[in-house]
Amino acid sequence: MSVSSLINSQDGHIPASKRIPAIARPSISDRAKHALDIVEKFVEEECILADAIFEQQLGEEQSKKGPQFSTLEYGLMAEYLGKSRTASEATNCSAPDTGNMEVLAKYGTEAQKSRWLTPLLNGEIRSAFLMTEPDVASSDATNIGLQMYKDGDYWVLNGQKWWSSGTGNVRCKIYLVMGKSDPSNTTRYKQHSVILVPANTPGLTVSRVLSVIGFDHAPEGHGHVRFDNVRVPAENMILSEGRGFEVVQGRLGPGRIHHAMRSIGGAERALDWFLSRISDPTKWPFGQRLADHGIMLERVAQSRMEIDSARLVILNAAIIIDELGGKGALKEIAEAKVQSASVLLNVVDRAIQAYGAAGVSQDTPLAALWAHARTMRIVDGPDEVHMLQLGRNESKRGDTLRARIETQKVKAAQLFRRYHLEQVDSLELNRTPAKAYL
Ligand SMILES: Cc1cc2nc3c(=O)[nH]c(=O)nc-3n(C[C@H](O)[C@H](O)[C@H](O)COP(=O)(O)OP(=O)(O)OC[C@H]3O[C@@H](n4cnc5c(N)ncnc54)[C@H](O)[C@@H]3O)c2cc1C
Repeated sequence: MSVSSLINSQDGHIPASKRIPAIARPSISDRAKHALDIVEKFVEEECILADAIFEQQLGEEQSKKGPQFSTLEYGLMAEYLGKSRTASEATNCSAPDTGNMEVLAKYGTEAQKSRWLTPLLNGEIRSAFLMTEPDVASSDATNIGLQMYKDGDYWVLNGQKWWSSGTGNVRCKIYLVMGKSDPSNTTRYKQHSVILVPANTPGLTVSRVLSVIGFDHAPEGHGHVRFDNVRVPAENMILSEGRGFEVVQGRLGPGRIHHAMRSIGGAERALDWFLSRISDPTKWPFGQRLADHGIMLERVAQSRMEIDSARLVILNAAIIIDELGGKGALKEIAEAKVQSASVLLNVVDRAIQAYGAAGVSQDTPLAALWAHARTMRIVDGPDEVHMLQLGRNESKRGDTLRARIETQKVKAAQLFRRYHLEQVDSLELNRTPAKAYL
């Protein structure tokens, strides 16, 4: 059956385009609605089925202009991609490639675009983004220390990176690498640069690939990469020397929305499995189906509310990115990032619990989903960093609010005087009749 005929099927299914949250609906083009339905059908009816085959075939092998959807439109599609391990790969929307493609599209020179962006968009190669280092607290990117010095028309790189997603893939041909190019610059945010390093450059070694709570994340693989006098032509610099933070920030805004919406898809998938298990007629603990135990229904309701709330938070962030760019949406991106990760983790955890021991085995997708969900509280900056930034920005309003509250008190006192009323402690007021009664 073709994808388009599935969309039109009369099986009682409400297509994704008809389930777009009201807040987002006015901003979604008809073209994006059609694409959204195709993505949903593709994921539900082809990718999820292919996940097991994909796992088995790992190690064996696997469009020109970008599709030009807004962050909001692509965000809605990313939710469905997040339901399957295969879907992002099959649609050439895997992390970190999407973020890297955005960087090249936004900041690359014409030569960089034709050398790297075109084959990436065509799905011919894969890429990696190398920022995190084992020797420093990398959640504070000003600590990044990979050495970069200029030698004629070349930059020379020395140091090491880890958690370099993608470097374990034989098809990964280009690394976007953040290093310290100007350590003595008095502005800390101008000390770093991001440069393109072809994966086959002499001096580069992927010394090992890291596992995630014991799971092998092939084919992308999170590599530990060593740089030993790696020489890269100066024209490979993205933007220009000292503008690494600009590149990283430009990359992470929309990228976090993609991650967050994929997390919503993962949470929906976990909820699907959860609902399926509690209605299983063969499982009757203590005389009734799980779905008849109130605590399970409460967990279902909690999951539904958390997913629906987080989705709105993320879509709100996507709308603001589309309107104001990533810089104008820092608060909303942080909210979306933190909330989506915790919702995914909570819902998967509840679903695992409903399955009992089967939930932690390889017989459901839940254990692997949990391991993935756990990383989401760390990748692209741990929760604490986003919360700190959110809390700090929010608390900037403290002085203004204190002044406003003081003004309100003064004005309230003036009102009492104007109406010749005595200002009485409200609790005392309640107690007076009680005392009199006694
Ligand atoms: C599956 C996976 C894929 C990844 N892919 C990539 C990739 O492709 N490219 C890449 O460059 N990196 C990648 N990373 C790395 C990831 O981005 C970093 O691990 C993350 O930014 C945290 O940096 P760190 O590990 O150095 O932890 P640290 O910076 O050492 O932080 C450790 C802990 O300290 C605490 N902490 C940090 N800051 C604060 C604070 N301000 N207040 C209170 N507590 C704080 C937090 O609990 C944090 O988890 C990946 C990681 C994982 C798990």
